[in-house]
Amino acid sequence: MPSRIAKLRNEAARRQHHRCCYCDLVMWDGREVSLSRFCRLHGLTRRQARQRRVTAEHLAARADGGRDTRANIKAACLFCNRTRHRSRSPLPPLLYRARRRGRPSGVEDRSKVEGARHDAGKSSTPGI
Ligand SMILES: [Zn+2]
Repeated sequence: MPSRIAKLRNEAARRQHHRCCYCDLVMWDGREVSLSRFCRLHGLTRRQARQRRVTAEHLAARADGGRDTRANIKAACLFCNRTRHRSRSPLPPLLYRARRRGRPSGVEDRSKVEGARHDAGKSSTPGI
């Protein structure tokens, strides 16, 4: 029988459609699909696939009083979980998530500027 934490982790993984709460990549659950099959399905090496193993992530760390509850447990891949907690002062979950997904800042702003330019161009074009 799975432990309480394993049960919460599995529930979280299901809710997240087996995607890591940080990097959004598909995680390997280790139960339903063999490692070799997961590799074939996602075009990964065994080493990469092992990094995608699903783990239980405490949003509030146990050391900070975070409990093993449904609200505090998310499913994260092994890589993200390890990397986040390796840092001496781990980033808050939302910041770490943004970093893992690697959205360059300022991209949205640039498109807005371009949009504004297009509008300016249109308004100065004489109507035919
Ligand atoms: Zn991840």
